Amino acid sequence: MPHLDPEQLSLLALYEGREDPDGRDHLAACPECANDFAALRRTVDAVKASPDVGRLAVPGPQVWAGIHRELGLSESLREDPLAVKESAEGPVASGVAAPPAPAPAPPSNVIRLGGRAGGGRTKAAWWHRPGPLLATAAAAALVVSGAIWALNRPPGPQELAAARLAPLAQHSASGSAKVVTGPDGSRKLEISLDKDEAKGYQEVWLIAPDLTRLVSLGVMNSTSGTFQVPTGLDLSQYPVVDVSDEPMDGNPAHSSVSIARGTLTS
Ligand SMILES: [Zn+2]
Repeated sequence: MPHLDPEQLSLLALYEGREDPDGRDHLAACPECANDFAALRRTVDAVKASPDVGRLAVPGPQVWAGIHRELGLSESLREDPLAVKESAEGPVASGVAAPPAPAPAPPSNVIRLGGRAGGGRTKAAWWHRPGPLLATAAAAALVVSGAIWALNRPPGPQELAAARLAPLAQHSASGSAKVVTGPDGSRKLEISLDKDEAKGYQEVWLIAPDLTRLVSLGVMNSTSGTFQVPTGLDLSQYPVVDVSDEPMDGNPAHSSVSIARGTLTS
């Protein structure tokens, strides 16, 4: 399942009661999105906690239109959450404590956040009251920060090749290896074995198919490790992943005792 999109995350962060079971399931299962969600929640709390709204100016409708266009938001969010509603400004029918006119979709939720006591209708536009304005500002800030976050989040590691590692003579350790690329294009070899059978220490190698040429990637002190692949090394020339048992003899060459080995395929 893909990660939550910024709009969905923002709405979940802003409206605690929002009905989005799929989104909440994903949050429960995905630490990455849960982290982003927690950060957005802190933004909401920070904005809601600020009581001084006296100096906030209400932006014209072109501001929201611009945000909406730039972020490519969905049609359901097209309406300016700060727009003055004629229905909310109309004369009050005498003696009728009418409930407030319902406001449009997500913006309406924003408006209700501010709460309006039944019958306590005032002449002030709804956005003159602090709650809704803050909530709306929070919503706009969240949508914007969510979009920025989405643009900045680095792509996940890409798997280039993988190998199953099988035990060699006298050994029984097995496991797997894979080569992944990071956002900067560098390659890493990730290795995992089910046990450490070295009498000395484990060393990780990339070896040519005929076993005549080899490159040491480093020492692996536990049953797993991540190793930088030298920039420019042609993996098709060195496709064999090998974990050797090296004695503490100060000799940098391969001991010729291999614990597990496998060939990378992409
Ligand atoms: Zn996720």
